[in-house]
Amino acid sequence: MSGFGELSGKKALITGGGRGIGRAIALEFAAAGADVAINYVGSADEAQETAAACEKLGVKAVIIPADVSNADEVAAMFGQALTELGRLDILVNNAGITRDALLLRLSDDDYDKVLAVNLRGAFLCMRQAAKIMLKQRAGRIISLSSVVALRGNAGQVNYAASKAGLIGMTKSLARELAGRGVTVNALAPGFIQTAMTDAIPEAARQQMLAGIPMGRMGQPEDVAAAAHFLASDAAAYITGQVLRVDGGMAM
Ligand code: NAP
Repeated sequence: MSGFGELSGKKALITGGGRGIGRAIALEFAAAGADVAINYVGSADEAQETAAACEKLGVKAVIIPADVSNADEVAAMFGQALTELGRLDILVNNAGITRDALLLRLSDDDYDKVLAVNLRGAFLCMRQAAKIMLKQRAGRIISLSSVVALRGNAGQVNYAASKAGLIGMTKSLARELAGRGVTVNALAPGFIQTAMTDAIPEAARQQMLAGIPMGRMGQPEDVAAAAHFLASDAAAYITGQVLRVDGGMAM
């Protein structure tokens, strides 16, 4: 755990929390004492394993299946999270997908699917969370953007648009909720070692590594530490921020 302080007694929902960066965030929060709701859409076994690992750290962990791009499933997920955890202090919009192709080969379907999961999914979850957090007059919303939102990336017109959209959404909602004790921030990871980046061909991987001043990929735990900071009391006066976790890639 990173040591930004206790999240003891806090309740967090992490979309796509069963594996990759979401899993690291669930474990980081659990290690800090937060109960966690771990959302997944296809990887039930990984979600179950993550929940078991969180429970070993002494907190309550539940798994909730839902496609974040589906409004009914998102509403049901928040209902279940509230029933099982009792309240909701932290939402992490982590669920995300890629469907990479150069523009001329990018299909309507792959454009729509990426925007639906990455951007509409975050919108649907933010709307549910805001309803709860406004009443509490407290809460933290953290969304996973990306350095490609800041710099662009050939072959990722759809993904970069979704991640740049998340930044606009984050800053707008930060302004809407700032007076009510709810902070809204984004993380912009660089090149982090997960299944998402394992799929990148070796030549492209070497090219990306060459563009990272620190000379190495990040680990999911590097992103989880930043999420912990934004969720902690130490970040109480930070809202509308985009925090890069990228080894210097996008400066
Ligand atoms: P990953 O290993 O591919 O994991 C993606 C996660 O998203 C999985 O838990 C998956 O759940 C979930 N997910 C996908 N579609 C979903 C849907 N419709 N509803 C609910 N959950 C869904 O990716 P990652 O590398 O950990 O990335 C996590 C986040 O960080 C993403 O938003 C990604 O864009 C962002 N990010 C990653 C990097 C990087 O270098 N890895 C860099 C910048 C930003 P299932 O397993 O159940 O399918």
